[in-house]
Amino acid sequence: VSKSKVTVVGSGNWGSVAAKLIASNTLKLNSFHDEVRMWVFEETLQTGEKLTDVINKTNENVKYLPGIKLGKNVIADPDLENAVKDANMLVFVTPHQFMEGICNRLVGKVRGDVEAISLIKGMEVKMEGPCMISNLISEQLGINCSVLMGANIANEIAVEKFSEATVGYRDNREIAEQWVKLFSTPYFMVTPVQDVEGVELCGTLKNVVAIAAGFVDGLEMGNNTKAAIMRIGLREMRAFSKLLFSSVRDSTFFESCGVADVITTCLGGRNRKVAEAFARNGGKRSFDDLEAEMLQGQKLQGVSTAREVYEVLSHRGWLELFPLFATVHEICVGRLPPSAIVEYSEKKPRLS
Ligand code: NAD
Ligand code: 13P
Repeated sequence: VSKSKVTVVGSGNWGSVAAKLIASNTLKLNSFHDEVRMWVFEETLQTGEKLTDVINKTNENVKYLPGIKLGKNVIADPDLENAVKDANMLVFVTPHQFMEGICNRLVGKVRGDVEAISLIKGMEVKMEGPCMISNLISEQLGINCSVLMGANIANEIAVEKFSEATVGYRDNREIAEQWVKLFSTPYFMVTPVQDVEGVELCGTLKNVVAIAAGFVDGLEMGNNTKAAIMRIGLREMRAFSKLLFSSVRDSTFFESCGVADVITTCLGGRNRKVAEAFARNGGKRSFDDLEAEMLQGQKLQGVSTAREVYEVLSHRGWLELFPLFATVHEICVGRLPPSAIVEYSEKKPRLS
């Protein structure tokens, strides 16, 4: 039986942790090649060294996940085409805004029998409407793509603290089981559900809710207000997902990708953190500025996702149905002050 070869496309904070999880399993499981290739968007560090060279020398992503050994079988590769060419399992994990460009570069470069999974929380909005990242991957590359989402703050998993995750798959349970095997460890428990769109929309939309939670923190509104934002946010997540895809299941929102990811991101995520600083500054410093200063190269997904969701809402005439989502975007672009996050609630969401 031939062994599966895994490549991770992306090497940020979560990308590096994903590579570590996978590399610990490929060493143990006979059905996988030991080596895990990780495509690195090359950059020169302040020391003058290339990031890939440092990763391959020290086994550590010193910029995006300092202090954590990835495993000697993780090989950093700055050449995208070379990194993917032999793989029959591709794990996509970059900030979502870079995926369209990456997919364009990969057309015709991947194996015909390759299976993909996306760990990317975000979406694209095209003329035809919203396009989930897994769909972008499948359509551009002509391959099947599952998703893995969950309450997964990367730095906590990096130090092997227990968490859960959800694999969303389309129709092939065996493939879902392969991904579960590749990711599961005693501290990372993965459950498959047959609802790609539901799982991916949960992971994507919770970042907008986390921005709202950050505003509430910046305004020092307290725990009850934040819990209210999380509840209303979860309700809008479900309503929006079901309007886009009638196949989305209610039960998905009770998986790790749903309520658990809303909670962890609203408590400890980067979107929350930067949104808190934005509100503390009364909206006077832009998200771009704060992101660059506070995250040192890591990327926020919630602000662009709020804009993308807003485009869909206005195009379809749904703005009034989603006051929380709409208000988050209007605050981000400076049309409303941060305090508007708790004022919109008179306009009750009409979907139950
Ligand atoms: P990150 O936020 O650390 O982003 C930095 C990465 O982007 C670096 O690898 C950098 O090289 C790369 N990059 C910068 N410019 C680029 C360009 N022009 N082209 C391609 N790559 C470029 O990344 P991350 O934390 O690994 O997040 C990736 C995805 O995983 C996101 O969708 C995120 O929402 C999701 N996610 C993150 C976490 C987390 O805790 N970090 C947890 C779960 C899911
Ligand atoms: P942040 O990008 O807000 O840190 O969220 C990480 C995440 O997706 C946790 O599951």
